[in-house]
Amino acid sequence: MRPLSLRSKLTLWCASLFGIMLFLIWGVSYEMLSNGLARDVDASLESVGTAISKTLNEPPSGALPADLEAMLREFLGPEFPERFFQLLDPLGRSDPQFPNSFPEELSPDPKAMENAVKGIRTFSTIQGEGPYPSRILTLPVIQGKRVTQILQVGMSLEGVYLARRRFLLILAILGPVAVLLAGGGGWLLARWALVPVDRMVSTARRIGGTNLEERINHKGIDDELGRLARTLNEMLERLESSFRQTRQFTADAAHELRTPLTALKGEMEMALRSVRDPLEYQSVIASNLEEIEHLSRLVEDLLLLSRADAGALGIAEEDVDLQALITEAVRRASVLAEARSVALTAETSSPVPFTGDSRRLLQILLNLVDNAIKFTPAGGQVMVNLNREGSWAVISVQDTGIGIPPEEQEKIFQRFYRVQKGRSRDTGGTGLGLCIVRSLVEAHRGHIELESSPGNGSTFRIFLPLVQQIQ
Ligand code: ADP
Repeated sequence: MRPLSLRSKLTLWCASLFGIMLFLIWGVSYEMLSNGLARDVDASLESVGTAISKTLNEPPSGALPADLEAMLREFLGPEFPERFFQLLDPLGRSDPQFPNSFPEELSPDPKAMENAVKGIRTFSTIQGEGPYPSRILTLPVIQGKRVTQILQVGMSLEGVYLARRRFLLILAILGPVAVLLAGGGGWLLARWALVPVDRMVSTARRIGGTNLEERINHKGIDDELGRLARTLNEMLERLESSFRQTRQFTADAAHELRTPLTALKGEMEMALRSVRDPLEYQSVIASNLEEIEHLSRLVEDLLLLSRADAGALGIAEEDVDLQALITEAVRRASVLAEARSVALTAETSSPVPFTGDSRRLLQILLNLVDNAIKFTPAGGQVMVNLNREGSWAVISVQDTGIGIPPEEQEKIFQRFYRVQKGRSRDTGGTGLGLCIVRSLVEAHRGHIELESSPGNGSTFRIFLPLVQQIQ
C-alpha cells in the first residue's frame, strides 16, 4: 500500500481530533440535557404535589375543596391534562371524591407507599403499557403528625424522551457534516502550509551537477520551513564549492599529466624524424625517462591524495624515533643539498619517541627538506630541529631561502598551487607536496604552521601529539 502523504495525514488527524472533541462535547451536553429535563420534571411534580397537599391541609382539614379540579386546572394551566393525580388512604385505596386521573396500569410502587406511610416523599419511574415510562411522586398528607392520606402526582416522560431523541437526531445529522468540514478545513490548511515544501521539492528536483548555483527561494518564509530552506541552501553552497574544487582539481590534474606527455611525444617524434647517432638516442631516452619519472611521481601523489580524501591512508601505528628519522631524512637529502651548494644541518637534542607511521613521517620530512633546498639559493642554509613542547613533538624545517609572500602562505597548501608557476616543474615538483604533507600530518592528529617572509626564508613547523590516537 502506498504510504499516506503528509497532507492526507494532516487531514485525517484534523478530522479525527475534531470528531473526538465533538463526541466528548456532545456526550457531556446530552448528559446535562437529560439531567436538566429530569430535574425539571421532578421540580414540577414536587411543586404540584406540595400545592395539593397544602390545599388538603387547609381547614377544614382532610376535606377536599369542592372546586379542586377547577383549582388544579387554574394552577397548572395548559399542563393540567398532562399530569395525573390520585389520593389514596394509607392502605392504598383511592379516594372516590378526588378527581382521579391516574392511569390504571400504573400500580403504586410498594416501596414508595411504604416510605409515604413513614412520612417520606419518593420519586419513582414506572413503565406502563405505553411506549414511554411515567415519573411519579408519592408524598404523604400529614395532619397532626399523622399520615392521613397519600397523594400521588405523575406525568408521562414522553416529552423528555422526545426532546432527548430530537437532540440525538440533530447530533447524528450535524456530526458527520462537522467532521467532514473539519477534514476539509484540515486539508486546505495543510495544502496552504505545504505550498513552500512543494516549491522546495520542485527546485531541489531541478538542481543537478550543471546548475548547482541555483538556490531555494525562501523570501518571506521565516518559520521552520524557512529554516529548512536556508539549511538546504547552505548544503548546496558546500556541495557547489566541493564540486568546483573537484572540477578545478580534475582540470589541473589533466593539465599536469598532459605537459610531460606532450614533452615525451614531441621528443620522440623529433628523434624519429631522421636517423641519429646512438648518443643522441641515449640523450632522448634519458630525457624521456625523466619525464616518465615525473609522471609516475605525479600519479603516485594523486593516488595518495585520493586515498587521503577517502580517509583510507592506512596510517600504521608503530614506535618511531623522531631523532633517528630526521637523521635519515637529512642523509637522503644531503645529495641534493650538496648539488645545490646549500648547507643542510640537523639539530636534535634528545630522542623523542612517537607512535605513528615511520614511512609516512619520513615522506613528510623529505618533502619539506626537499622544498627548503629547492627554494634556497646556493650558499644558503637549511636546518632541521626537533623539540618537545608540552605534549607535542615539534619538528621545524627552516631555510634561508626566497620566502613566501603572506598572501600566498595559505594557498601553497592547495593542490597544484605554486608561487613561481614555472619554476617548481623545472625542479621536479608536482605541486602536490605540501597538500600531501598537510594530509599526512593531520592523519597523525597533528597540524602544520608556516612562518615566512619574502627574502628572509621560511620555517615550516610540524606539531605531532605525543599521546597518539590515529584514525
Ligand atoms: P612543489 O614543490 O612540487 O611545487 P609543493 O606543494 O611542495 O609543490 O609547494 C607548493 C609551492 O609552495 C611551491 O611551488 C613553492 O612556490 C612554495 N614553497 C614550498 N616550500 C617553499 C619554501 N621552503 N620556500 C619558498 N617557497 C616554498
